[in-house]
Amino acid sequence: EFIQALHLPGDKDKDKKEPELTETQKKKLDIEETKKSLPIYPFRDDIIQAVRDHQVLIIEGETGSGKTTQIPQYLHEAGFTADDKRIGCTQPRRVAAMSVAARVAQEMGVKLGNEVGYSIRFEDCTSERTVIKYMTDGTLHREFLSEPDLQSYSVMIIDEAHERTLHTDILFGLVKDISRFRPDLKLLISSATLDAQKFSEFFDDAPIFRIPGRRFPVDIYYTKAPEADYVDACVVSVLQIHATQPLGDILVFLTGQDEIETCQELLQDRVRRLGSKLRELLILPVYANLPSDMQAKIFMPTPPGARKVVLATNIAETSLTIDNIIYVIDPGFAKQNHFNSRTGMESLIVVPISKASANQRAGRAGRVAPGKCFRLYTAWSYKHELEDNTVPEIQRMNLGNAVLMLKALGIHDLVHFDFLDPPPAETLVLALEQLYALGALNHRGELTKLGRKMAEFPVDPMMAKMLLASAEYKCSEEIVTIAAMLSVNSAIFYRPKDKIIHADTARKNFNHIGGDHLSLLNVYNQWRDTDYSTQWCYENFIQYRSMKRARDVREQLVGLMQRVEIDMVSNPTETIDIRKAITSGYFYHIARLSKGGSYKTVKHNQSVTIHPNSALFEDLPRWLLYHELVFTTKEFMRQVIEIESKWLLEVAPHYYKPKELEDSTNKKMPKTVGRSQRTE
Ligand code: ADP
Ligand code: MG
Repeated sequence: EFIQALHLPGDKDKDKKEPELTETQKKKLDIEETKKSLPIYPFRDDIIQAVRDHQVLIIEGETGSGKTTQIPQYLHEAGFTADDKRIGCTQPRRVAAMSVAARVAQEMGVKLGNEVGYSIRFEDCTSERTVIKYMTDGTLHREFLSEPDLQSYSVMIIDEAHERTLHTDILFGLVKDISRFRPDLKLLISSATLDAQKFSEFFDDAPIFRIPGRRFPVDIYYTKAPEADYVDACVVSVLQIHATQPLGDILVFLTGQDEIETCQELLQDRVRRLGSKLRELLILPVYANLPSDMQAKIFMPTPPGARKVVLATNIAETSLTIDNIIYVIDPGFAKQNHFNSRTGMESLIVVPISKASANQRAGRAGRVAPGKCFRLYTAWSYKHELEDNTVPEIQRMNLGNAVLMLKALGIHDLVHFDFLDPPPAETLVLALEQLYALGALNHRGELTKLGRKMAEFPVDPMMAKMLLASAEYKCSEEIVTIAAMLSVNSAIFYRPKDKIIHADTARKNFNHIGGDHLSLLNVYNQWRDTDYSTQWCYENFIQYRSMKRARDVREQLVGLMQRVEIDMVSNPTETIDIRKAITSGYFYHIARLSKGGSYKTVKHNQSVTIHPNSALFEDLPRWLLYHELVFTTKEFMRQVIEIESKWLLEVAPHYYKPKELEDSTNKKMPKTVGRSQRTE
């Protein structure tokens, strides 16, 4: 039940005549006309001129105005790609980079990967011919390592700057620096919100080009009382809109793949039960791991008479624009990476969004006609509980990776690096300490030989160290597989609602007594032994696409291992060495069993719990290494292996002292307690 509390005025508020939606749908504009209809189009020549006149330009314009898809094309048409130079455009999210590149390739009538391409981690879809290149901000960050002056680019667009991801923030400093000694390089900083002034000041008062918005009014509704279960509330709201509101598509903001899948199943279930009483409702998910052919579906026009509901993560807040959204449902949450600089613990956690985010989300309903936004929280909560703005990632993330990259670029004085907003000093110090403990930096804070090799890998420093340490333990084949599987992890096991028991049994068959990393290794090796069979995946409730991706990632990691001259050797029988290699990288992530069967992290005594999906859920080994922490109802360790405490002294002598690892529970807890009868 909603109460209307607010009317978010649009630029077109006076013009009360509502355009016929079906008209818009019926109009099958061809690409040229669509391009001309975008708010940015009238400013095409002005933008080109402004780029000619200024080295750095800040571009501000409402989401969906055409910044990402059009500006690179305009500049290409204006000759900025002559002399074999490229136009680069960064995106904070991989899905956006891929989807936007696909769209622009289509608009230009070329094959994706030829003139227009994209490059994201572990996937380079560009060629010699590529003149417009979309990439993630992380990818550009890495490109600095091989091409410190970005010589192959004539224009670099740092897009979605308002998202303030860690990589984007660091790129600001890097591109500002090279703009000084590459006067021919044009820089565009493009943003959807009002941060333009701040960007302008940072870039020595660069001029701001504002693209006037075209926005219809959006009515905002709040719930009267807080919702206990917001996924369920979303389902109810979608059905209510579908049953009572005029046609127009719905966009629902959820926090991640799991939630989206749950919501999708619930919706499908209820729609099925309602049968033919309702018009057709197309339910389409979109999240980072969704295969690209499925992503493309969200952009297909809704068939006449039907309604589309898109279940999306934050990605649809500003990175992707889906046309014809009239209704937005906003539960008010997002998943965020959270780093506690006191404990050094990093965790994925669902948090309330900011007011700025809430307003961006609402704005998605007013692009093509007056819209409605249903907030699944109270007006009081909006006013008093939501922060004004989202804290930039650089102030709430582990900086290990960023610091390693900067050191590899020869930037030693991080305290005086030109940050738009500096990270907290203690986070920087922690990152330096962590890199020192991993052996990437020496005691003077300089990059070591090992550190230089670690920086070659597009993974976090702990994983890079694990990969390099595998040489010493003669198990590089196995470790590379584990690293690849961990990189696609969340999407490996398939668990359809109507076959949960079968799926869980199938999954248990892969369980390895040593822990989840080894179970993942089992999955991969068995699949490899069937010659990468699709049928085998199907029979074992394994997602074929994820496995294929793991295989791609694996191949690239093998290439990188060869580049840093590490032999690929296999040690298929001995899991101790494999686990020691993992420990060499992840010795920060250790928990010890305490009385009462709960776990505490070794250094900071934080309570953590084995994730119920783990092979070790019922075993409770004394010492555990976890891959990551995920906070839901409590702090869960996802992907754990059993280790021996003495390994820690072997792999991380400057981090652990024997005293810390004394085991008071030794005598009381014989090794077999709590163990199930599984054999290896
Ligand atoms: P901005 O960057 O200013 O937010 P975009 O350039 O991303 O705007 O979007 C401009 C238009 O292009 C929007 O109407 C959007 O719907 C359309 N568009 C973008 N990507 C795709 C895609 N993959 N398929 C179809 N249309 C797309
Ligand atoms: Mg954009």
